[in-house]
Amino acid sequence: MTEGVDVVIIGGAVMGASCAYWLTRMQPGLRVLVAERDISFAKASTALSVASIRSQFSTAVNVEISRFGVDFIRNFPERLGVEAGVGSLGLKENGYLFLSHTAEGATLLEELAAMQRSHGAATEVWTPAQVQARFPWLNVEDLSAGSFGTRDEGWFDNMGLLAGFRAAAKAQGARFVTDEAVGLEITGGKVTGVHLAKGGLIACNAAVNAAGTRAAVVAGWAGLALPVEPRKRTVFVIDAPNARHPDAPLLVDTGFYLRPEQGQWITATVPQNDGPCDADDFEPDLNLFEEVIWEQLWNRAPGFDAVKVVRHWVGHYAYNTLDQNAILGPHPELPSLFFMNGFSGHGLQQSPAIGRGLAEHILHGGWQSIDLSDLSIDRVLQGKAFREAAVV
Ligand SMILES: Cc1cc2nc3c(=O)[nH]c(=O)nc-3n(C[C@H](O)[C@H](O)[C@H](O)COP(=O)(O)OP(=O)(O)OC[C@H]3O[C@@H](n4cnc5c(N)ncnc54)[C@H](O)[C@@H]3O)c2cc1C
Repeated sequence: MTEGVDVVIIGGAVMGASCAYWLTRMQPGLRVLVAERDISFAKASTALSVASIRSQFSTAVNVEISRFGVDFIRNFPERLGVEAGVGSLGLKENGYLFLSHTAEGATLLEELAAMQRSHGAATEVWTPAQVQARFPWLNVEDLSAGSFGTRDEGWFDNMGLLAGFRAAAKAQGARFVTDEAVGLEITGGKVTGVHLAKGGLIACNAAVNAAGTRAAVVAGWAGLALPVEPRKRTVFVIDAPNARHPDAPLLVDTGFYLRPEQGQWITATVPQNDGPCDADDFEPDLNLFEEVIWEQLWNRAPGFDAVKVVRHWVGHYAYNTLDQNAILGPHPELPSLFFMNGFSGHGLQQSPAIGRGLAEHILHGGWQSIDLSDLSIDRVLQGKAFREAAVV
């Protein structure tokens, strides 16, 4: 061991905190330091998330990751241990409903549902009539099918998850500092330290890139490229007095998604000119609700005839431009630099499994509980996309 710590984690939102939790749980006494530049988390994706979880992914590994995640989130106080003193994350299991409009779309939903079920998910593919029987307020005329998760899908308290990981990691000995990492010290092909703006050089044996939308900046310090960029998402909270359906699922239609939230609704879409933005650009695309979402929403459910936007917020996806999937593990050219990046809008639910996976790799040199090799950085270096098609 060098002087300093064993592992420095750059970024202390949900991924960094989860990794710190698992590292110190698996190896008590391990010296872990988490550096977070903005302890308000005002611009972190973790704080600006829609905080939902599903089994309905197009790749088996993502189904496995969320299967672990939902159990962890549902039983959060027990999984962290009573000494962590955390409360319930209030998981609301209303399910996800993915809609399709074509015969090919319905076939694809059937194929995906079979794959998801083979990994323990409870996905059912319904005819339009079955969709309407369950959710009579929906217009199903133009649909070919709907794919619904009858359990293990819904939404939960994002900041509770972050706070719990931080509290438990601290209780297990991890140190959290409010400081910005500004560079890596690399000696003999190894990361030997992390430079902090205020704290100076922290010697370490390994560093973890958990910098969210700034992940490519951190990789750049080592001369490495990472296809991850910030992409803006404007989220609208709307009130619709003629559409009060607290049992509604998270509905994924072609041009928008929608879910209920305490008597109101949350909705968003992907902007047509989707592309990278500055990591500090939080200017909302306010036209998206009127010009893109509302008409489609009204067509899907007549109760959305009268709607008021009561609030909006902007968050950034850390978008992996190669294949919209996580980029994980050590870099082959710099094996003591570990990546947990590029979650492309589905990282919150993945944080329990990804934090555990990274910790296992750091401590034992390979993936253990879940084989995450499909998501390793090697595919990115080879330019071989491992695409996640169900990106919302
Ligand atoms: C609008 C929106 C909706 C979403 N909905 C969902 C959803 O329904 N379900 C789901 O699972 N996921 C969802 N996500 C995605 C999910 O929120 C993210 O994938 C997840 O929070 C990523 O966590 P993170 O820790 O990697 O990144 P972040 O939360 O962005 O944290 C990165 C942290 O690193 C810090 N940092 C960066 N650079 C440095 C540095 N040099 N030194 C020190 N600290 C640094 C930052 O300050 C930040 O706190 C959504 C995201 C958005 C924006």
